[in-house]
Amino acid sequence: MRRRANRPWTLAGGADLAYGDDDRRQTIRLLTDPRLAANFLHTHRKLHPSDYDTMIRVMDLVWDCPEDGTVNVAGYLCGGCFASRAWLELAARCRDGR
Ligand SMILES: [Zn+2]
Repeated sequence: MRRRANRPWTLAGGADLAYGDDDRRQTIRLLTDPRLAANFLHTHRKLHPSDYDTMIRVMDLVWDCPEDGTVNVAGYLCGGCFASRAWLELAARCRDGR
């Protein structure tokens, strides 16, 4: 995974309708939870909590746009190119021949 540390996550792309409102609310709640590291330790017992950027990726709370590097909250379209995560991942697989 290419790291794009120190970029803030965004909701600017708007809701990805492939996800439900409850899923989006839960993701945002987890992203802003001051107990994130404790939750990470509880759900990922075999991993050590590390920096915030790593934990939110391991917990699949954000996704990095493969086209423009925008850090997007799971359940939202890309704030840079407004494409969905599923479409961008499919396009990347086709382009890379995976
Ligand atoms: Zn994008």
